[in-house]
Amino acid sequence: MKIATKYIHAGAEPDPSTGAIMTPIFQTSTYVQQAPGVNKGYEYARSQNPTRKALEEAYAQIENGKFGLAFSSGVAATDSVMKLLQPGNEVICGNDMYGGTYRLFTKIYEKFGIKFHYINMQSVTNIEALINNNTKLIWAETPTNPLMNIVDIAAVASIAKKHNVILCVDNTFASPYLQNPLNLGADIVMHSATKYLGGHSDVIQGCLIMNDAALREQLYFIQKSCGAVPGPQDCFLVLRGIKTLHVRMQRHCENGEKIAHWLRNNNNVAKVYWPGFEDIAGYAVAKKQMRGFGGMISFELKNDSVEEAKRVLSSTHLFSLAESLGGVESLINHPASMTHASIPKEERIKNGLSDSLIRLSVGIEDVDDLITDLQRAIG
Ligand SMILES: *Cc1c(COP(=O)(O)O)cnc(C)c1O
Repeated sequence: MKIATKYIHAGAEPDPSTGAIMTPIFQTSTYVQQAPGVNKGYEYARSQNPTRKALEEAYAQIENGKFGLAFSSGVAATDSVMKLLQPGNEVICGNDMYGGTYRLFTKIYEKFGIKFHYINMQSVTNIEALINNNTKLIWAETPTNPLMNIVDIAAVASIAKKHNVILCVDNTFASPYLQNPLNLGADIVMHSATKYLGGHSDVIQGCLIMNDAALREQLYFIQKSCGAVPGPQDCFLVLRGIKTLHVRMQRHCENGEKIAHWLRNNNNVAKVYWPGFEDIAGYAVAKKQMRGFGGMISFELKNDSVEEAKRVLSSTHLFSLAESLGGVESLINHPASMTHASIPKEERIKNGLSDSLIRLSVGIEDVDDLITDLQRAIG
């Protein structure tokens, strides 16, 4: 089945009791049983809910996986993967990943005796050199946030397999429309469904998708034991979002490409980060593993100061100053003071996140209007 058909029909069966074409929002906490243990497969809504089940089926299908699990946020999905680990285990992850993931690792899981290696994941040799008997997980984000570096998923997956280490890929930035990590050998795909999957900036949710039944059992056990499940209303919103993912992503990609090139030609811009430039280090891998380059763009100003960045941020009208990404409306963000504020300044600069770095989530508005807006703010 082609992507466009799959996204419309994934997980969507007419409701058996009424024929409703849209999956109903089963707003219930519990289910009546015929006798103790005799039921229709539903007992208590932390463990099972039909709206969530339809969405979990859709998650599996859009990532070409066997199983999907929905969580109350992207961070809750990541947290559930971390609960596969034990004290003394080691994790290899990127040094420019999503700030909330970094915070979860450093502030919560280091405390529980898990050791993290924050490295440049563009080098597969770097990764392999760190693997020892305690290494249990490789956490990869690609394109990375906010520098749009590209990690070679297939190459990392083959190392992970060789050493029997789980590879989990945070696929939030690419979305399943642009990239399918399970097809490239990853064990788990994680999404913040809050972003492109929901697509309308109206829901917080996360998910995990995998092929291995034993891994699914472990993660389902964590999902119901720890309880970070999304409500049925939120599941409905993401189910609806997925139906238009392909159409939205096409426009995000078109607008992203035009704006990335426009920024590169702007005299007040020092550097633009976008995976679709043919002359950047990650281009060959991006071209190989992605179907397009998306609408996430970062750039640095020639006047590299927090003040100048703040001036630009407060001068746009269509690009709203806000955290998050992946919605239909364009957003502008300042990693140093917003999404990545929890990373110490010294570390932030060392990892290439300069003071004036600005991140755009290019929406699906008319691209000429978006460029006019940026022109007014940047000059
Ligand atoms: C937003 C985001 C997360 C966290 O997801 P929430 O839904 O906000 O909890 C994780 N990874 C990336 C790349 C993100 O953009």
